[in-house]
Amino acid sequence: MIYVALGANIAGPAGPPEATIAAALKRIAQRGGLTLERASRMYRTEPQHVRAQPWFLNQVAAFRPVDNATTTPEDVLNVLQAVEMELGRDRSWEIRFGPRALDLDLLLFDQVRMQTPRLTLPHPRMRDRAFVLVPLLDIAPELVLPDGTRLSEALAGLQYRVHNDVIRQ
Ligand code: AMP
Repeated sequence: MIYVALGANIAGPAGPPEATIAAALKRIAQRGGLTLERASRMYRTEPQHVRAQPWFLNQVAAFRPVDNATTTPEDVLNVLQAVEMELGRDRSWEIRFGPRALDLDLLLFDQVRMQTPRLTLPHPRMRDRAFVLVPLLDIAPELVLPDGTRLSEALAGLQYRVHNDVIRQ
């Protein structure tokens, strides 16, 4: 299974963050030859690091390749980056942890562990982020990370609060 995190906090060409994230799910499936298996609810999350910006909408989705044999992690990253560009992400003025029309992260590709200049799996910061682990737990409660850690254990190590669709960390 392929797990992708989606986030947005400003409007892009597809509309407000809700519309951008919905459009992104469809495009990732179409362009990547992937079937959308599950999607978490959308959460509203407090910005970290750069506080003076709109709250984010975050979601996590699970995809399965239509053709298991030929889809690589790099293929999926290429698709995610193309969809980010189409839906309005403009890296020319962006600041780290600042506002963005769309952010797509490849969290997990089956149990693959890898580190290249372009791609690290599992995603290197996923374990620190309640806005990733909480929605991931919604759709994959039994998930075990490639190093053997249960997702629920990883989440237990973080300080955060969830109330309805709001995550604070
Ligand atoms: P960001 O600005 O947070 O979207 O980070 C994008 C950069 O992280 C790109 O240069 C990617 O090549 C790199 N990257 C490394 N590992 C991953 C991953 N698992 N998912 C998405 N981007 C990754």
